[in-house]
Amino acid sequence: MSKKLVSILLPAYNEEANFPLIDECMHRVMKDNPAYDWEILMVNDGSTDHTLQQMIRLREKDERFCYLDLSRNYGKEIAMMAGLDYVRGDAAIIMDADMQHPIDVIPQMLSAWEEGYEDVYAQRSNSRENWLKRTTSRAYYRVLQHVTNIPIQQDTGDFRLLDRSCIMALRQMRESERNTKGLYSWIGFRKHGITYWQQKRKQGASKWSFLQLLNLAINGLTSYTIAPLRLSTILGLFISAIAFIYLIYILITTCLYGDPVAGYPTIMVTILFLGGIQLFSIGIIGEYLGKIFNETKGRPGYFVESYNGQHV
Ligand code: UDP
Ligand code: MG
Repeated sequence: MSKKLVSILLPAYNEEANFPLIDECMHRVMKDNPAYDWEILMVNDGSTDHTLQQMIRLREKDERFCYLDLSRNYGKEIAMMAGLDYVRGDAAIIMDADMQHPIDVIPQMLSAWEEGYEDVYAQRSNSRENWLKRTTSRAYYRVLQHVTNIPIQQDTGDFRLLDRSCIMALRQMRESERNTKGLYSWIGFRKHGITYWQQKRKQGASKWSFLQLLNLAINGLTSYTIAPLRLSTILGLFISAIAFIYLIYILITTCLYGDPVAGYPTIMVTILFLGGIQLFSIGIIGEYLGKIFNETKGRPGYFVESYNGQHV
């Protein structure tokens, strides 16, 4: 019987400094797990440094290394989508190219896969990020969990093993505004979690700025739920009710005590408050409208410069 092929998917953006580490780690994985055939698919997400040259060098030394060169920088979500389109394995393990994800977890993932789990995700038992990043990420997961109807695994990133069935399912999800974390949950399949300790990044810098993280968070919310729209409806109803009660109160007091033209502060406060709520609600509608706009254009998610040096 021929061995099963397992692909490791590495999206990489300006990771040239990490290639000695990638080389070492990937060879160790392949050597320690000889029961499988291996494919290492590296996705160059429009790097501006020598990441592509490093990929070519790895492939020249060892044909099991493959690379996909995207036409520009699309961001990690799209880089993963492209990678999943090109992996050939019976399963794919998604890892960060900075090797923050420990390879010692891989044998455990493989044995869970053999037991029949189709999505084996790695869960950070303690991420060594700073306090702010940790608490905000935890709070975010909690909110997301509450407003969506799908179970979302906490402290789980993209480090996971996906069976062919999950890969085929994810390939059908062509939305360009992606939040892959939610997609993994959305597709379902038999899931199993493994805990691990997150490594510190050894070379280069993290590519996520605060603004990008905020974007990702808003995207995650608006991709999976219309709860914010519902919230603005409820808020609108609530404020209208209060305004109505206040209106009756003013009518009665005016009838009883006359109308000494006063009340500048109350008018100001009301106008400002309502203005704020209205802008907020319009913003929420805009978020969804923007998503519709982007999806209706129906553009392909990415363009490929080359696959293993061949134009496609
Ligand atoms: N990445 C990518 N495209 C981007 C940004 C990042 O492919 O536009 C890759 C990056 O090379 C790395 C992974 O996504 O392999 C995670 O990125 P990073 O380490 O910067 O994120 P963090 O670990 O800080 O969350
Ligand atoms: Mg990282």
